[in-house]
Amino acid sequence: MQTLTLNNGVAMPALGLGVFQTPPDETIAAVKDALELGYRHIDTAAAYGNEREVGQALRDSGVPRDDVFVETKIWISDYGYGYDETLHGFDKSAAKLGLDHIDLLILHQALPSDFDRTLAAYRALEKLLADGKVRAIGVSNFMTDHLTRLLDATDVVPAVNQLEIHPYFQQRTVLDFDTAHHILNQAWSPIGGVTFYPGYGDHRTSVLQDPAVTAIADAHGKSPAQVLLRWGLQQGRSVIPKSTKRHRIAENIDVFDFDLTTAELAALDALETGRRGGPEPENVTLAAYGRAIPEA
Ligand code: NDP
Repeated sequence: MQTLTLNNGVAMPALGLGVFQTPPDETIAAVKDALELGYRHIDTAAAYGNEREVGQALRDSGVPRDDVFVETKIWISDYGYGYDETLHGFDKSAAKLGLDHIDLLILHQALPSDFDRTLAAYRALEKLLADGKVRAIGVSNFMTDHLTRLLDATDVVPAVNQLEIHPYFQQRTVLDFDTAHHILNQAWSPIGGVTFYPGYGDHRTSVLQDPAVTAIADAHGKSPAQVLLRWGLQQGRSVIPKSTKRHRIAENIDVFDFDLTTAELAALDALETGRRGGPEPENVTLAAYGRAIPEA
């Protein structure tokens, strides 16, 4: 497994399993399958409601704890004006996961309209890092303005910014900002899940069915998903594809035996549509998105 080195020297497997929308009763099997198939990085979140099952799968798998890179996220409802709520958010996640430390803990969203809360939450992550409770800290869905405000007011540069990144929505301005500040770009929906999730409206076009993607896949004898993961990895990003199906979990990690050409990478870059699939980060508020994260 290829690893990426975070800005504090911690090594992170470049590819991990995502578990957003993985129902709790399917999470143990998916994570165990992934670990059996060679994954050593799992991306969950307090808001996904399946940290407990991720932890159970880690224990059931027999893979040594320290061989697996566990990433989770603090939901906005656990940001506070002091930082106690966020410290408690760590306690809840760690207890559900059954872990005494977490490898990468990130803020799930900025709260742009209440940025002091975001800063307080991030300072709690800095404290957890200083105390050795987490090995690295970062953010998700932070735009350049949010990052600028964060960098101005805090001490530790985030190790990671987890963002919607697939060929139809690449956020190149944010990616370049991150790279310039030694923040690693991590792609959510790396195979474009948000362009085709069931139940997300009828007008979405799956990037996996784009003719440019399928042509490149055919040329390599690989699947469209494998091509998109390769595109992310070759451009230096971490990718965390989600599946609950063993054969797809296997397919999604089988991406280290081929290379896209410069022309193929450019053809994928050219698919940008400017259309975001996920929530507009600037509009995330507690009123619209807040919900209580249960105690452990
Ligand atoms: P992905 O790009 O990983 O796509 C997931 C979708 O693709 C699912 O519907 C899955 O269905 C399907 N799929 C998986 N593998 C294949 C394959 N090989 N061929 C065809 N279809 C496939 O989307 P996600 O949005 O789930 O992103 C990945 C992870 O990123 C999440 O699980 C989560 O951990 C994280 N994330 C973070 C967000 C944030 O705000 N920070 C937001 C969204 C996601 P099936 O399971 O049936 O195989």
